[in-house]
Parts: sequence; C-alpha cells; structure tokens
Amino acid sequence: MVSIVFPSAHYSCCMRHLGENIRNNFHNASVVYHFYKAAKTYNIDVFSDHFNRIKDLVPQATTHLERVGFHRWSRAFFPGNSFFIATAALISAPAEKYATIAIKTIQQYNIMTTNIAESVNSMFLDERKYLITGLFDAINRRFAEKFHERRMKFINAPTIFVPLIEKDIAKDINLENKLLVHQTANYKYIVTSHNEVATVDLLAKSCTCKVFDIDKVPCPHAMAALRCQYGDDYGRHIYEYSSLYYKAEVYLIAYVEEIKPVPSEET
Ligand SMILES: [Zn+2]
Repeated sequence: MVSIVFPSAHYSCCMRHLGENIRNNFHNASVVYHFYKAAKTYNIDVFSDHFNRIKDLVPQATTHLERVGFHRWSRAFFPGNSFFIATAALISAPAEKYATIAIKTIQQYNIMTTNIAESVNSMFLDERKYLITGLFDAINRRFAEKFHERRMKFINAPTIFVPLIEKDIAKDINLENKLLVHQTANYKYIVTSHNEVATVDLLAKSCTCKVFDIDKVPCPHAMAALRCQYGDDYGRHIYEYSSLYYKAEVYLIAYVEEIKPVPSEET
C-alpha cells in the first residue's frame, strides 16, 4: 500500500508556519493577509493578484515565497490532485481500510489547511513530558478514544455524505439559484453570474473555477449545470458527481479497527 500511495503523496510545507515566518520576518499585516489569500485560492489568476500585491508591498517577501516554490504552499499550484486518481482503484483493494485512512488524512483535512503533526502535538502537550512508555500508553489511549468517537459520530447519520460536506452542498445549492446557465454541448455549460463566467464540463467533473476539480464536489456553477442537465430533481446527481470518499460510510471504514490497550509489563 505504501508503494502505491506514497509516490503520489506530495511534499509541501505548512501554510501556518510559512505565514508566521512571513509575519515575523517582514512585519506587514497586509502581506500576511495576501499570503493567506494566495495560499488558499483555487484560481491561478486570483493567486497572481494577491502575489502581485505582496510584491508591491514587500518585494523581499515574494523572493522568499518564490524560493520555497508555489507548488509547496499554494492550493492553486499544488500537484497533489493526482493522489486521488492513484488511490481511486485502491478502494476495492484488500487493504481497503488502510488506503481509506490514507485518503481520509488528505481528504478530511484537505491540503495545507491542517497540519496533522501539529494536531497530534497539541493533543499530547502534557504527556510529552512523560517517560517514553507512559507517552506511548497515552497515545494508545487517546487514539482508541478518538477512533471510537469518530466511529460513533456518523453511525446513525441520516445523510449520505459527512455533515460538513452536506452543509457545503446546501450552501452551494443556494448560490446556484442565482446563476444563469447556457448549454454549449452535451454535458457542457457556460454559467454566468453578475461578475464572472465559468465553464463546466460535467463528464470531466471540471469547472474553470477549479473548485469542482480540486474538492471533488460540484461547485455552484456545476450545480447550476446539473440542474440544467437533470431537471429539478438534480439533487441526487450531486452525489454521483462527487468523490465517494465523502460518504459517511467510507468515513466510518477509516475508523473501523479497534485499538486495544497495551497490557502492563507484568501481565
Ligand atoms: Zn465552478
């Protein structure tokens, strides 16, 4: 599994750490603001706008960010998308649950927005001072708890996808209502709102805004296109056009394994 998953995982740096470096080295709140905007956007044009603003404000900051490499800190340039393609076949593999855990790590926390090392670090602030065996016992116990907590979280979930994504979908459906759609070919649409034009290709699961491509869940433009393609009951098609990794049942597979306590040395 490692030989399949690992080569597709991309090395990048922690957005928060880089942001703090920028804050401490260049002492400019606007630069920090534009850095986070540039890091989080899906769109290369929006990225360029914010990056150029940084260049105007503090040119040395851009030199620093260029040296790190855009693909290491910006969502728009991050090459990690191929990870999903490489792992799509793994869902039916025998070690299915391990693949799913790897996928969840990327999927749930997305790229750059949560640093898993820091999350674990903050879970064991006190325990870090323990002797190593005590620390390992603490890790074992906390992970057993966390796994149980997550298993129970959606066990009776009435929704198809995990609640966080269901919420996003509901929000996007609201936005979608305000968009104007024109079909240009089968499964292809131009979607316009008062200030932007997007092109959606439903078969390629792609939109020029890139949210559909990267998040694997239809953006408002794609939802407008789905409504045009399938009519008013397009709601269920939203799931077909999303990554199956967002399903509550797939989430549960990642936590299915029970973590057993380590017995004491004497026993
Ligand atoms: Zn879009």
